[in-house]
Amino acid sequence: MADDSPAFHPDPEVMLAYAAGTLDEASSVLVATHMALCPRCRRESARLDAVGGALADGLEPVPLSAGALEATLARLEDHDQAASLAPTEACHDHATLHSVPEPLRSYLGGDLSALPWRWRGFAVREMPLDIAGGGVRASLIRVRAGAALPAHTHTGVETTLVLSGAFQDGDSRFGRGDVATATHSIDHRPVATPEAECLCFAVIDGPLRLTGPVGRLLNRFVRM
Ligand SMILES: [Zn+2]
Repeated sequence: MADDSPAFHPDPEVMLAYAAGTLDEASSVLVATHMALCPRCRRESARLDAVGGALADGLEPVPLSAGALEATLARLEDHDQAASLAPTEACHDHATLHSVPEPLRSYLGGDLSALPWRWRGFAVREMPLDIAGGGVRASLIRVRAGAALPAHTHTGVETTLVLSGAFQDGDSRFGRGDVATATHSIDHRPVATPEAECLCFAVIDGPLRLTGPVGRLLNRFVRM
């Protein structure tokens, strides 16, 4: 089975928090929307669910039985087929609602161009989304081709999912489905690539960092 997973994924501890159900809603929407585009993270999520079940049962997280793995993979293939039947962005040269996978799409509810975008300077528009909570900020961001993304002055963690177009950040190019994670310790200046407008979903200060004994225990099961 060909794996056309994106190159950049949510941090392992974010995947763990998602599996444990401790991630805030906006970050959960980001992870789930990434997974709609990422076979690798769908597999990882299924694996973490199995680990979580084993932990809950007080069992050692031994490898899945062959039958369980096949059943999971069959489910994922069904998902892939459903995704391939859905409208895609292929026939559009700019961002439309069809370039936004579920579950994020359901939060938008309308034509992208009809949404109440706010200009943030010359080349950037932002639309805050009402799925934030607990100090988390979530928004859609559109950046004109070749323009810089907003400067980052935040003190926490910003997670950005590319929905269409691409941006370049240092040596890394982030395209559709890729997740970029930036902390205040990273001095970065991402720029949209020149071919097309870049549409992103950004969550700021969202993902939980798992620390302490439970986090260390869970982190033992991460292999990404
Ligand atoms: Zn992924």
